[in-house]
Amino acid sequence: MPMKLFDSHCHFHDKRFNDDRDASFQRAIDSGVTRILTLGDDLEASRKAIEVAEQYEGVVAAAGVHPSNARSWNESSANELEELLAHPKVCVLGEIGLDYYWDKTDEFVEIQHRVFREQLRMAKRLNYPVSIHSRESNADVLTILEEEDGANIGGVLHCFSGSLEEARRGLALGFYLGVGGPVTYKKNDELRELLAEIGTEHLVVETDAPYLSPQPFRGKRNEPAYVATTCQLFAEFLSVAPEQMAEVTYNNALKALRIS
Ligand SMILES: [Zn+2]
Ligand SMILES: [Zn+2]
Repeated sequence: MPMKLFDSHCHFHDKRFNDDRDASFQRAIDSGVTRILTLGDDLEASRKAIEVAEQYEGVVAAAGVHPSNARSWNESSANELEELLAHPKVCVLGEIGLDYYWDKTDEFVEIQHRVFREQLRMAKRLNYPVSIHSRESNADVLTILEEEDGANIGGVLHCFSGSLEEARRGLALGFYLGVGGPVTYKKNDELRELLAEIGTEHLVVETDAPYLSPQPFRGKRNEPAYVATTCQLFAEFLSVAPEQMAEVTYNNALKALRIS
């Protein structure tokens, strides 16, 4: 049985694919990746994501403003984002969230919170699931999701890394956890064990390409085809058939991203 995979989080519109996007797409198809979600990280990138999604069958787009770009959010951003979301290829609001890794000053954290909350409210009002980015900020991300009625928004905590308790808080809101390249890294035993404990029924797979290549390709550009590698390696760790892991996570992604 051939594998059927959904790369539930990547940036396929990124300029690092400009020279070989067609070939990269073909490699994805050859690896069984029949669906790809490409996510913007600001409004301009979201427009690019839509353009690329229009060109490839099975590719859908997400529009949103990433926490690292929260300063770009201004009075016209909400209207522009709402227009982008109305495009038929857009099915998710993302990626949004909090990122305390690069800049944790009070001023910037406050901006990130405001932009995150505003986008969550839009997602709820317009009925879009969200793809959540969280880096060194799980406690605040989960608290804000709880306060903003995350259970009635839904989506994915992409590239999840956190404690079991944090994972369970996400699941309690009905969110799925994104499993990416880091689950294949040698030092990440704790992450593998945590995700095994959570169980495949709550997981989706992703690449976050062009970033975070799985182990055999570390240091190289990541691409959607490699979601098959991540799925394969993690399935081995769980002692389940890769085809089974692929099927379960594929169906989870359809549910999480509300794609029929
Ligand atoms: Zn991210
Ligand atoms: Zn991303």
